[in-house]
Amino acid sequence: TMKNKVDIAIIGGGIIGLYTAFELAKRGVENIAVYEKRYIGSGSTFRCGTGIRQQFGDEANIRMMKRSVEKWTTLGDEMDFPKFKMAKTGYLFLLYDEEEVKTFKRNVALQNSLGVPSKVITPEEAKEIVPTLDISEVIAATFNQTDGKANPFLAVYGLARKLRKMGIEINEYTEVKDIIVKDSQVEGVRTTKGEIKADIVLNAANAWAKIFNEKLGLNIPIEPYKHQGIVSEPFKKGEIKPMVVSFKYGGAYFTQKANGGLIGGIALKYGPTWDLTPTYEFLREVSRNFTRIIPALKHISIIRQWGGYYAETPDHNAVIGKIKEIEGYYLAAGFSGHGFMLAPAVAEGMAELITKGHTSLPFDFYDPYRFERGELREQAVQMG
Ligand code: FAD
Repeated sequence: TMKNKVDIAIIGGGIIGLYTAFELAKRGVENIAVYEKRYIGSGSTFRCGTGIRQQFGDEANIRMMKRSVEKWTTLGDEMDFPKFKMAKTGYLFLLYDEEEVKTFKRNVALQNSLGVPSKVITPEEAKEIVPTLDISEVIAATFNQTDGKANPFLAVYGLARKLRKMGIEINEYTEVKDIIVKDSQVEGVRTTKGEIKADIVLNAANAWAKIFNEKLGLNIPIEPYKHQGIVSEPFKKGEIKPMVVSFKYGGAYFTQKANGGLIGGIALKYGPTWDLTPTYEFLREVSRNFTRIIPALKHISIIRQWGGYYAETPDHNAVIGKIKEIEGYYLAAGFSGHGFMLAPAVAEGMAELITKGHTSLPFDFYDPYRFERGELREQAVQMG
């Protein structure tokens, strides 16, 4: 049976909600419950491209991702689930014109100054990393070996298993209908299985987060957009080790999974919309763009396609922090195409914010009030 009183109620059993519960539990907060309207991972997390990279163009995201990679590296041991491992197979950005090269050189310099070992390489060096690449139009590339990927299914199940062992309640098929607020103070949540008292509520509902904000009269822009992903039949393992990214070819990103299949997507999006129906247009554009990057992929069949939400804000960066109008209300949502990779650092910072009132991670960057002030962040590189 479900507790009717907790210290912290977390809305959303995706990677952000579960990882934050873990960081809170590690800090000794015991009475936490997670509420998930379907099954854990069923939102965007299980639909993601698995990519984890530190190659961003701004200091805050680079610092957050550097911390996240440290944490991804040890998560398997930390949750007593060594089967979970981040694969440090790198991220390879292919560059096709001088303008792109200029931007990426600047980004690499910034990444290096913050301790990320990315580098600018030649097309021939890129081809050594992925021998099947067509480099006839590529003029340079950037590569960082400490970027990579991880399996979101293993991350979610490992975290949930550990949380349950730690006595943390995870309630699936339990939808939160309302956040109960009295005199500008959170009092709990109303769920489809009853009311729960709580002084602190974390909204980790990502694409759905705005539903709660709107009901509470808060104007924080987060909109759901449909993106899609594919996996292919398996082929010779190790042929495409890193995540390969090409802005020129549809904003394509793809990598080979441990079982030999390809996983990836393109920048094509629809919305704002709640509809997640896969489209033929996407299938056609994925095929066209992927095969321009690696012609040999034309021999490989796509076996599955799906839709998922990017929860978008106007500058494609998340909204994370304490909501000042309502005491006890915290928000971590709007993760665009990079909420999976950011989860460890977001969770750590959020747990610090809730338990200590501050964090040393650069949360100011994700300030939910920046739009109100007219301060858009430099656009984060959007794709996984
Ligand atoms: P979610 O996983 O969506 O979790 C939110 C949960 O809240 C959901 O499970 C939902 O059911 C639940 N919920 C909603 N409303 C309620 C309610 N009322 N009551 C209870 N529960 C509720 N990110 C990367 O880092 N790398 C990538 O390579 C990458 N590729 C992507 C590719 C695609 C095609 C897509 C769609 C996304 C990709 N992303 C990627 C983005 C990533 O998937 C998300 O940013 C991340 O999963 C967000 O995690 P979350 O926990 O915030 O959200």
